[in-house]
Amino acid sequence: MSRVNLAIIGGGLVGASLALALQAGAKARGWKILLIEPFAPGDSFQPSYDARSSALSFGTRQIYQHLGLWQTISPRAEPIRQIQVSDRGRFGATRLDALEEGVPALGYVVENAWLGQCLWQGLDSEVVSWRCPAEVKAMQAIEGGYRLLLDDDTSLECDLAVLADGGRSGLREQLGIHVRRTPYEQSALIANITPGEAHCGQAFERFTEQGPMALLPLPDNRCALVWTRQGMDARRLAEIDERSFLRELQDAFGYRLGALRQVGARHLYPLALIEAQEQVRPHLVVLGNAAHSLHPIAGQGFNLSLRDVQSLADALLAGPQHPGDLATLQAYHQRQRLDQALTIGFSDQVTRLFGSNQPLLAAGRNIGLLGLDLLPPAKSWFARQAMGLGTRPDPRGQA
Ligand SMILES: Cc1cc2nc3c(=O)[nH]c(=O)nc-3n(C[C@H](O)[C@H](O)[C@H](O)COP(=O)(O)OP(=O)(O)OC[C@H]3O[C@@H](n4cnc5c(N)ncnc54)[C@H](O)[C@@H]3O)c2cc1C
Repeated sequence: MSRVNLAIIGGGLVGASLALALQAGAKARGWKILLIEPFAPGDSFQPSYDARSSALSFGTRQIYQHLGLWQTISPRAEPIRQIQVSDRGRFGATRLDALEEGVPALGYVVENAWLGQCLWQGLDSEVVSWRCPAEVKAMQAIEGGYRLLLDDDTSLECDLAVLADGGRSGLREQLGIHVRRTPYEQSALIANITPGEAHCGQAFERFTEQGPMALLPLPDNRCALVWTRQGMDARRLAEIDERSFLRELQDAFGYRLGALRQVGARHLYPLALIEAQEQVRPHLVVLGNAAHSLHPIAGQGFNLSLRDVQSLADALLAGPQHPGDLATLQAYHQRQRLDQALTIGFSDQVTRLFGSNQPLLAAGRNIGLLGLDLLPPAKSWFARQAMGLGTRPDPRGQA
């Protein structure tokens, strides 16, 4: 039976990023890392690399820069120069501006398929190997590690198992790790849109009575739409013909980018806040969506997970030669606890505040938006949370 130092279960954006963050240090230590993933790289059904795009925060750019991958990612990373936050049918609106915040961009929008390709290409095959297509069916704690059983009936052992198999992780359940699940009773509809006018790096967060929407700038003057609606309504919007869809979208979004011309394939994601009640055990870490799945409207889920990834890699590479001791894993988790709590809280509060039709809350957010625009420190705080820098050193001057 083969044995590796680290087995990463799930080669999605988070699992592959962890392999990347570890590989240089792992090489120096002689560690072997194995990524196990059911979908072959480049397969369009791979859940992490579907038609979705991700808004990467400025903090995420800094992490990939540190890992030497930003240069590869950046040719297809569209900078967000401004974010306009508005409430349909109300006056409150605020505009966050990269120049005002002293950064080259508030964030970057990248297609997941592109990010996936960059990650795979960045992996060093001397340190990181793949079992793909392969799925972990079961895992069992053994002396000094875990034994993993794969779907081809082979098994392997590892010092440290990293569970990065996504929000619906079946293995998490098998291991008896409970989750707190708070359904939002909403689905996110995603699609790429071609607007009539140039987006000029503007991102729009717009709150409507039917749910919040984000329109993010993509390369080639396309925009990535994330439109949150009640489950049934989202399904209806996913099924109506393109012209009717564009008409409804135009009505909700307005003419900020002129007439909306074209819509690509539409996909639905049911939404819930999922938080694993345990993230570390001896020889085990739960990471990415398996640890915490957030509402996508504030664009924080992957950015938070990447900060976890960097922090875990730092802890492991400063820890003992055999990865997986509980003290190191607990120190990692302790270090990320505040960041996780703040980011999950920010994302959940923004979602609930802006998703509500209650007149008092709606009036409150209207005042909030007006207030944000009039109060530069509050606006800067909001911008720092949105940039994924809420618990990180101030990037101004480092750009
Ligand atoms: C509509 C939408 C928009 C979003 N937009 C943003 C955004 O703008 N910014 C942001 O920061 N975040 C965003 N997110 C969140 C972001 O997509 C997630 O945080 C990210 O995809 C999590 O990656 P992951 O690798 O943890 O999980 P996943 O992407 O779910 O990947 C898990 C991987 O594990 C594999 N796997 C599953 N089971 C097994 C098994 N048994 N054995 C081996 N492998 C297995 C799967 O094939 C998959 O490749 C968005 C989410 C949604 C739904």
